[in-house]
Amino acid sequence: MSRLIFLGTGDSLNPERAQTSLAVPLPGDETMLFDASSGTVLLGRLSACGIPLESVRHLFVSHRHFDHVGGVAPLLTALAAVPDASLTIHAAPETLRALRGSLGLTIPGAEDWLGKRLGWHELLPGKPTEIGGTEVTHFLMNHGLECLGFRVTQEDSVAVFAVDTRPSPEVVEGASGANVLVHDTYGPRGATERAHAMGHSTANDAGEAARVAGVQHLILTHIRSSEFVDPGQLVAEAEIAFGGPVDAANDLDTFDF
Ligand SMILES: [Zn+2]
Ligand SMILES: [Zn+2]
Repeated sequence: MSRLIFLGTGDSLNPERAQTSLAVPLPGDETMLFDASSGTVLLGRLSACGIPLESVRHLFVSHRHFDHVGGVAPLLTALAAVPDASLTIHAAPETLRALRGSLGLTIPGAEDWLGKRLGWHELLPGKPTEIGGTEVTHFLMNHGLECLGFRVTQEDSVAVFAVDTRPSPEVVEGASGANVLVHDTYGPRGATERAHAMGHSTANDAGEAARVAGVQHLILTHIRSSEFVDPGQLVAEAEIAFGGPVDAANDLDTFDF
């Protein structure tokens, strides 16, 4: 059985939740992260979940928005102080370039502190990444800038992460038959126009994607603050569109897939 741990489930301006980050444990006490939340909150969430810093060996980055990469600088700084730590950062070419540029501005010298312990891996079209029996394939989504979705396969279990994206055929194809689909959710159906204008999806869109892709379980994430959305309402709406089980993720939730 594979596991998925939500380190952050909020949208970019939600002060009630950490911003997007997911952890998938790997065999051999290693951990793979998908997106890095923002600020030092990722470090706190890792600690709260009992995930040792030095176990984090891989970070896949979906895109360059601050709520997905803002935690990279603190993560690298913290890892530099752990002698056995090493990290490979995986991202599409433009995102990788932008990320390295931004790190050069905010923590100049960090690449030297880590030296060979820090690796950069460009995710190129049609080239899956194989990490000790876990396969990660990626696909381009529709977010208004280079943004990747990820399909993670461990033995016969498949989890797909589609954050951030408008509804897109690439997501449906990428999520085909998955055990779990984790999907961007900006708001209810009534917010469709604004959600799409902002490069996001509604709960109804997420449910539709899950239904057409034939997944087993849909988990909503990237949730706006309670001032704007009611997660219970988002789940109810997505369940109608999907016709299957739906959860709204909370920080520190763990799901099997
Ligand atoms: Zn974004
Ligand atoms: Zn985002």
